[in-house]
Amino acid sequence: MRRNVSQQAGIAIVLCVFLHGSAAMSAETEKTSPKKTEVQQGIAGSFKQLRERFEPELSWNATTPAEHAEWRKSFRDTVVRLLGRMPEKVPLNVVWAEKKEFELFTRHKVYIRSEAEYWVPVYYYVPHKHDEKLPAIVCLHGHSGIEPYIASQRKESIIKSTKRGQLDYAVYFAKHGYVTAAIVMRGFNETADKQDRGVSHVTRSCLQVTMSSYLMGMTTLGLRCWDAMRVIDFLQSQEVVDPDKIGLAGLSGGGAVAMYLPVLEKRIKVAMIAGAFTAFRSTFYATPHCMCQCLPGIMQYGEMSDIVALCAPRPVLLINGTGDTGFPIEDARIGYEKLKRVYSLQGVGENVEADFFEGGHRWSNNKTLDFLAKHFQNPKSKISE
Ligand SMILES: [Zn+2]
Repeated sequence: MRRNVSQQAGIAIVLCVFLHGSAAMSAETEKTSPKKTEVQQGIAGSFKQLRERFEPELSWNATTPAEHAEWRKSFRDTVVRLLGRMPEKVPLNVVWAEKKEFELFTRHKVYIRSEAEYWVPVYYYVPHKHDEKLPAIVCLHGHSGIEPYIASQRKESIIKSTKRGQLDYAVYFAKHGYVTAAIVMRGFNETADKQDRGVSHVTRSCLQVTMSSYLMGMTTLGLRCWDAMRVIDFLQSQEVVDPDKIGLAGLSGGGAVAMYLPVLEKRIKVAMIAGAFTAFRSTFYATPHCMCQCLPGIMQYGEMSDIVALCAPRPVLLINGTGDTGFPIEDARIGYEKLKRVYSLQGVGENVEADFFEGGHRWSNNKTLDFLAKHFQNPKSKISE
């Protein structure tokens, strides 16, 4: 296409103005670059400085069992208070909605009433082979919702990522002879209402649950723990379940709940926490995560290692990918060293273990079956408080 003279002149003038404008802008930018000044640092500077000079008030530093017991009472009371108001308990009520047979187990879908107006959906797995009562594992999923965790997705790409991430640990444990209860956590999948903004890969309402519960003096973490406690009521009512052998497994958002549940719930005898344990100051405080995992005020009193220390002497397996950038491994290692001191002080140093594997944000079964067998099949294992 041929342009006439006046069109060409017009383009030249526009180009000239544009180039002149950018030159002027870059000269202006240079005045304030390369460094942001003190008045421009915004929230990054403010919160970073706060983190550097802030020490939690109730960090564990006991040197005797008596000091530990004193610390435990004080810190546990604080965490229970921060987890917020709990719903009113209602009698156990279960609706059996679905039953599916698989090669090694039966999978039931049940709804368990956890409060007057809320029913918890649960995929309940019972191995075919159960000559005697079996241990049961409460399984908590992460932010991709329940589907990959029960291997029920249909898309090829999600099937692959489930396999890679070993997300279907509820199914895996059922195949290896454990009863499992894979809970649809409050705000996910069929329990969701208003969709989280910017989220399209899964149906979830974490933001709505969190905002509503905060306004009512509750917390999402507290409510999700409450639901899991009612699921334990259900498990203990089942003939096939050994009521004294209830374990816990959670990844990512489910790992966050798994850190708090043993604080509230003595019936949890062993816990496996994956893709979640590090330090608040390097995860939720430092980089954006879903708000549902944030317990208001917790950093004022303690760190993640202090929360997990409340589980002692009950066995804990920490599972972390060394390349999981959302949950830095450096702080996981520091926390693990501290937990070894906590457990050793109570004479059960062997009850805290870590599987820090090469990989990213996912589950790992490198140590899970040995860990469960060691504590659920060995009568000498100390798994109670
Ligand atoms: Zn969330």
